[in-house]
Amino acid sequence: MFVGHYAAAFVLKGKSPKASLGVLFIATQFVDILFFPFTLLGWEKLEFVSGFTAVNDFKMTFPFTHGLLASILWAGIFGGVYLLLSKREQRSKKKIAIIMTLGVLSHWFADLIVHTPDLPLLHGEPKLGFGLWNNKLATFIVELVLLVVAAFYFLKQTVLMAKKRAALYVWSFVLFMILVNYLNYYVLPVNHDLVSLTISALISYFLFAGIAHWVEIKSIKKG
Ligand SMILES: [Zn+2]
Repeated sequence: MFVGHYAAAFVLKGKSPKASLGVLFIATQFVDILFFPFTLLGWEKLEFVSGFTAVNDFKMTFPFTHGLLASILWAGIFGGVYLLLSKREQRSKKKIAIIMTLGVLSHWFADLIVHTPDLPLLHGEPKLGFGLWNNKLATFIVELVLLVVAAFYFLKQTVLMAKKRAALYVWSFVLFMILVNYLNYYVLPVNHDLVSLTISALISYFLFAGIAHWVEIKSIKKG
């Protein structure tokens, strides 16, 4: 799953409007942000098997980033670091740290829908995955629906955002993400080079987080 993960970021932002949308975008992709460098280091594995699923050719072994137990640990670390670095007052930063922790954890459950059974509960077997990636159109539609419903909830919950101009920024961003997903699934050539795939994945994760941050600032100022 790619842009569908940001549905969780929007929902958590709706639950806790003081949490930064940009940081939530990093949180919800955090284990993927670790996964790509880990493959380059040889700690985890990404093999290219043509036709592995309808969406991509990725045969993955990732006990350290995509195990449920590992995800819980990474989520705790992310929340803990947020708690240490945030300059907010004690009670609000504790609440936001919990939201960030949930953001990191959401990744595993969203991946569970689309991955083939390659997500460990602990370290090795058993591994889970409902395999929606075997149907490209269904994957595209599920990600689209998740994103639209979550963005709608976020706009409804966030008083600052519930103004026309702010809504325009948010919906333009959502549309842009859906377009990128479409290009990624249907138009762009398949990439079997691990280094360039890692670079483009990391650029897109940080670019989306940057845009999310910018959209939030714009919405607050101009909404
Ligand atoms: Zn993932």
